[in-house]
Amino acid sequence: MSLLVQKYGGTSVGSVERIESVADKVASFRAQGHDLVIVLSAMSGETNRLIGLATQIQATPDPRELDVLVSTGEQVTIALLCMALKKRGIDARSYTGGQVRILTDSAFNKARIQAIDEVNMRADLQAGRVVVVAGFQGVDENGNITTLGRGGSDTTGVALAAALKADECQIYTDVDGVYTTDPRVVACARRLEKITFEEMLEMASLGSKVLQIRSVEFAGKYNVPLRVLSSFKDGPGTLITLDEEDSTMEQPIVSGIAFNRDEAKVTVAGVPDVPGVASKILAPIGAANIEIDVIVQNVSADNTTDLTFTVQKNDMSKAVAVLESVAKEIGAREVRSDDKIAKVSIVGVGMRSHAGVASRMFTALAADGINIQMITTSEIKISVIIDERYLELAVRSLHTAFGLDAEPTESRVRG
Ligand code: ASP
Ligand code: MG
Repeated sequence: MSLLVQKYGGTSVGSVERIESVADKVASFRAQGHDLVIVLSAMSGETNRLIGLATQIQATPDPRELDVLVSTGEQVTIALLCMALKKRGIDARSYTGGQVRILTDSAFNKARIQAIDEVNMRADLQAGRVVVVAGFQGVDENGNITTLGRGGSDTTGVALAAALKADECQIYTDVDGVYTTDPRVVACARRLEKITFEEMLEMASLGSKVLQIRSVEFAGKYNVPLRVLSSFKDGPGTLITLDEEDSTMEQPIVSGIAFNRDEAKVTVAGVPDVPGVASKILAPIGAANIEIDVIVQNVSADNTTDLTFTVQKNDMSKAVAVLESVAKEIGAREVRSDDKIAKVSIVGVGMRSHAGVASRMFTALAADGINIQMITTSEIKISVIIDERYLELAVRSLHTAFGLDAEPTESRVRG
């Protein structure tokens, strides 16, 4: 028997029928003897609907009142689930964030959890009850309702699991796990049995939006085993853990291929190659609140250099405007930009202990005639910037080159 924290997302509780099926699922876990703390999202679409109401009145809604408003979505689902559980003869009790006492700071709309009082939850579990908690919300020290940012129920789940030292935090959602890459791009993408927190963070920040990133950081920090599973289809899902070693199987070098179509590239060409120019170029970009991702600098023969970096697509014209004036000031030749690019990354903790990973990546891309425009690496990731037309081809080639393709099924083999 174990203590499980299970979080069910918006689509899993999107209607009365779906709430009834969550109750059936909870009942079956209860029948197996597990202690359960359930965290719920609002019904799918509800948080957006509430924000829509607010913006009809105030273009930028008052932050405190917005939290009072949007936290109601989760209050609806927790009450309904408890009713559905009681109907099944299971004792259950719902709590809002403030009732548990999930204490947060006072940063409305993006509050951070500071402490969790687990006394009430423990007493209920002891008494054989299922505890049902509203995700996404907390309370500050003055009793104001706060919320944790969009997708914040994942973080509530992980935080409760950490506070209760639960055996596992299970996130039930509409996909059955974390995949080696987006199955819409690579049909033979595979569900991963296991992935490390570090890899998941690299995959998530690169666009595999299965979990709120903050919840993964939180789980990593407190070493909470986190599992992503489908609410609709039985299966083991994907376990996200700290362990890289306890696998009995050979560690794959690359665990997944992530990609991002959302970046654009800007170049300041013919920059005098003297100390301080890079900061002269990048400081005003930072001051304009534009985030930079990949940076490359090249020296040419005539003592000038080209500095190229990527920004979010929708920041590109702002970046170009800033750079045009910087270029004049420092005597650079020209500013160029290109938003027809994409970033492809291979991610894997196995890279730490293997040589030749980059060359294998570049060889695979070259074999398909794909030109690499920029390269950046970290200990567990290699990213390249390429022409966006070749994105899907690149992802497929790399998926094959690093042995990630699913085994062909019987029927595929027979054709
Ligand atoms: N209901 C909130 C949202 O839609 C929190 C969540 O579902 O995680 O962002
Ligand atoms: Mg979510």
